[in-house]
Amino acid sequence: MQKKDFLLKRYQWLLIGFLVLIVCLSTASFHFIQNQEQKKTHQNRKTKTAHYTTLKEKAAQSGSLEQLVNKTHTLSRDYVPQDLVTLNVKSVRAVQLRKEAAEALYRMFDAASKNGVTFVANSGYRSYGDQEKIFTQHVQTMGEAKANAISSKPGESEHQLGLAIDLTCAEMSGDLQQSFDNTAEGKWVQAHAQDYGFIIRFPKGAEAQTGYEYEPWHLRYVGVSLAQKIKKSGLCYEAYLKKYGADRVK
Ligand SMILES: [Zn+2]
Repeated sequence: MQKKDFLLKRYQWLLIGFLVLIVCLSTASFHFIQNQEQKKTHQNRKTKTAHYTTLKEKAAQSGSLEQLVNKTHTLSRDYVPQDLVTLNVKSVRAVQLRKEAAEALYRMFDAASKNGVTFVANSGYRSYGDQEKIFTQHVQTMGEAKANAISSKPGESEHQLGLAIDLTCAEMSGDLQQSFDNTAEGKWVQAHAQDYGFIIRFPKGAEAQTGYEYEPWHLRYVGVSLAQKIKKSGLCYEAYLKKYGADRVK
C-alpha cells in the first residue's frame, strides 16, 4: 500500500513537471511570434517612410523643383539644368526655362491673354557666368551693398536653376520696376500665378528673410500644389520652409 502511494506521488510530480514545461514552451513561442510581428510592422513602416521625403529635404536636393537657392544656399559654377527649352513668347531677349516651368508658363500666358493681359518675358535661365557679368556691372554702377540687395552674386541666383522668370509688360516698356505691381499684368500675377505653379519670390515686407528688395516681376516655379500653399500662408519661401519644412511631399 505504501509503495503504491509512493508511485502515485511520483507520477503526480512528473505530471506537474510536464505541465510546467508545456506552459513555459508555449509562453516562449508566443513571445517569439509577437517579436517577429513587431519586427515586420517596423519594417513596413520603414518602407512606407522611404516613399516620402520632407519639403526641407526636397529643397536641399539638387535639381528638384523645390530647390532653395539664395545668398546662403548656392549653386556651383558648373550647375546647368539638363532640360532647358527656349520660350516662344513675347520677350525682351531669348528666354530659356526648364521644360516643366516653360509648359506652366505657356498655360499662364494663355489664361492671362483671355483676360486681356499680355506679358513680356524679360529674363529666364542665366548661367553662372551670365550672373557674374551682371553682378560686376551692378557693383561698378551702384556699389557692392546696393548691388547685393537688388541682384545676386553668381551661384546665388534662382535664374541659374532655370525655374525663375522676370516678367514685364508694354506699359513698363520691358523694364523691371516695382511699379509693375500697379499694372494690369502685375495685378494678374499677384492674383493667379500660384494656380500655374509660380510664386512671387521676393514679396514686399520679406526683405530681411529673402535678402532682396521687393520684386513683383520675379516669379519662381515650384509646382502648383506648393505654390498655392505658399500663397495661402502669406509667407516668403524661406519662412514657409522654416514653418512647414517637415511636411511630407511626393
Ligand atoms: Zn529675377
